Amino acid sequence: MANRKKKIPVGILGATGMVGQRYIQLLENHPLFEVAFVAASPRSAGISYADAVAGRWVMDTPIPVVAASLTVYEATDVVAAADRCRFVFSCLEMDTKEQIQELERAYAAAGLPVVSNASAHRWTSNVPMLIPEVNAEHLSIIPAQQKHYGWKSGFIVTKPNCSLQSYVTPLHALMRAGYSIDRVMVTTLQAISGAGYPGVASLDIIDNVVPFINGEEEKTEQEPMKIFGSIDDGHCVPRTDITISAQCTRVPVIDGHTACVNIGFAGKKPTPEEIKEIWSSFRAKPQELDLPSAPRQPIIYREEENHPQPRKDRNNEKGMAVTVGRLRPCPVFDYKFIALSHNTIRGAAGGGILNAELLVAEKFIR
Ligand code: NAP
Repeated sequence: MANRKKKIPVGILGATGMVGQRYIQLLENHPLFEVAFVAASPRSAGISYADAVAGRWVMDTPIPVVAASLTVYEATDVVAAADRCRFVFSCLEMDTKEQIQELERAYAAAGLPVVSNASAHRWTSNVPMLIPEVNAEHLSIIPAQQKHYGWKSGFIVTKPNCSLQSYVTPLHALMRAGYSIDRVMVTTLQAISGAGYPGVASLDIIDNVVPFINGEEEKTEQEPMKIFGSIDDGHCVPRTDITISAQCTRVPVIDGHTACVNIGFAGKKPTPEEIKEIWSSFRAKPQELDLPSAPRQPIIYREEENHPQPRKDRNNEKGMAVTVGRLRPCPVFDYKFIALSHNTIRGAAGGGILNAELLVAEKFIR
């Protein structure tokens, strides 16, 4: 009981959806956070969380007891949230991007930091788009964001799209080691849980591959530029010296996005042995700070020629590691490899929780 009192009460906007359910699952027994507020659309509001997700709970563990009895609020009820929690994870869908932007700003204005999975604010230039292993230093723009909007303790931090989590950290590790990558071609094989619940109709996805995911190729090509970008005068300035070409497909896998990646270097090229050593020894801020959800080994290289595979590798390091394999020469670019990450853990709720743990460690959330 003494321990429970010290935890930070958190809210989840969109708690009934695919990502929200993953938050509820991952936050059970979390050492720093406890779920104190759950919110969704008016359809789910006013009833218990257990009733709201009855028949559509998709996690493979039971609904945590504490969450089951919480009353679901409308996500627009900022006052109720401010009474019950210290910050919110935002993983909701709404009709328009502007509605989500406005809602997330309302939370920040009410003094609640917003750790968002939604794409609405990813391109707001004073909002960091964070992968803690890659661009933890982008948190330094938070004071400028707060000053711009006149917010005291509230702010917004986003995480990038789930499609790029598998290959951005391996690319960053190579660039951090001093190699310049200037060309990337990536073909993603994305799991159906990435489409939310109920997601893609079974008649569309069973025995099939769908060669189009609305908006996904643009995000996969553009978001890494902001993540790899620099901070200047309170804004994030995206990189322009890397070209990424993406093709995104939906495949009949439940969880785990795979990416087939080709890369080209400008100037000096590492050897395959150097690349594997750079990946295997890569550690960054979350590991240095020993954050509770940080994978001890953020990039795992599998030597077997038939790995990584979604079913066998998505849960490596509790779903928080990127698993890479099949590094080989590319006759068109320099190298090609396969990368995999769990889309609703590292790519969504787990990544959001890691962002929040970093924000606590860096004293942005107190
Ligand atoms: P989802 O399963 O469709 O869940 C949507 C959530 O939003 C539900 O809780 C829903 O509540 C709520 N909602 C819908 N309309 C609303 C409204 N008008 N007002 C307030 N709440 C509303 O979607 P998801 O896959 O969890 O995705 C949620 C967000 O995370 C999206 O922005 C998505 O782009 C992002 N994301 C998803 C993934 C992934 O792998 N799935 C990965 C990264 C990022 P009801 O249950 O009451 O309808």
